[in-house]
Amino acid sequence: AKSGGRGRAERFDDQYAAEASARLRLDAELRHALANDELICVYHPEIDLATGGLYALEALVRWQHPSRGMLSPDDFVPHAETVGLIGILFEQVLDQVLTAQDKWLDEFGWRPTVAVNVSPRQLTNARLVQVVLTALEAHDAPASALILEVTETALVDDSVMTGTLAELRRHGVAVAVDDFGTGYSSVSRLADRHWDALKIDRSFVAGINEDVAREGVVHAMIALAHALHLRAIAEGVEDEPTLTKLRELGCDAAQGYLFTRPVDAAEISKMIIRCPEW
Ligand code: C2E
Ligand code: CA
Ligand code: CA
Ligand code: CA
Repeated sequence: AKSGGRGRAERFDDQYAAEASARLRLDAELRHALANDELICVYHPEIDLATGGLYALEALVRWQHPSRGMLSPDDFVPHAETVGLIGILFEQVLDQVLTAQDKWLDEFGWRPTVAVNVSPRQLTNARLVQVVLTALEAHDAPASALILEVTETALVDDSVMTGTLAELRRHGVAVAVDDFGTGYSSVSRLADRHWDALKIDRSFVAGINEDVAREGVVHAMIALAHALHLRAIAEGVEDEPTLTKLRELGCDAAQGYLFTRPVDAAEISKMIIRCPEW
């Protein structure tokens, strides 16, 4: 027993125990969520800046938690990654995306391309390609229906990863480098022909109008993309002046709250009806 208040180590133990029990609860709840269709996708349009048409929709996962309300991916995707549930999560997202596309195809006669986020460690799993191809087949969808987004921080030199990327490409599935500018990819890595697009991270896009240095950086990123024959997509576009500037700089597509917040599949249908240029 201790005298005179609680010791530092004991407080540390308590905190550790609390965190461990929170993790265990999250784990159980997430497994329950995956078994009970509590995860849903919302969609965030990427607008083609040359035509005003729809370049693609990005699928973003949400958890409709029975008591905590709508949870954002940051609340549970990292956990899903560490405990090995990310593969199941991905398969559920993929199935929802392709099901939504089937409906849009039915309603409008075309299948909007959807970008799906892939966690880094999925790329080091040789099974990924088969999962994607099987899902496409089950929905009778062409490989061009999907774009996979891979965060730049993930682009380590790994032979399984490189093989996966090459095989996806061979089958016609496009891959975009996500959060470009936040990672450490070498130009040679970007030039290795596995990619179709660079998504310029929101942190670079914000404020390009107020700061010539920022503008210069984004301009250089767009130029790099084009030199490598990749499309340049800007994320996090929140105002009209930013959009105008991106157009001037030759950016290919843009995404952000200026156009809309991410919305569910039914809401996308309404937008398609409202936007003839899509
Ligand atoms: P991300 O792939 O970089 O997605 C962009 C995030 O920025 C989304 O947040 C989106 O709602 C938000 N965003 C888009 N435009 C704007 C804007 O103009 N202003 C601001 N302030 N924010 C904007 P969200 O949905 O919370 O997703 C966070 C991250 O979670 C994503 O970042 C992605 O890395 C990850 N994620 C989402 N869905 C999935 C998934 O199905 N699988 C995996 N592995 N990761 C996912
Ligand atoms: Ca993304
Ligand atoms: Ca991103
Ligand atoms: Ca980002």
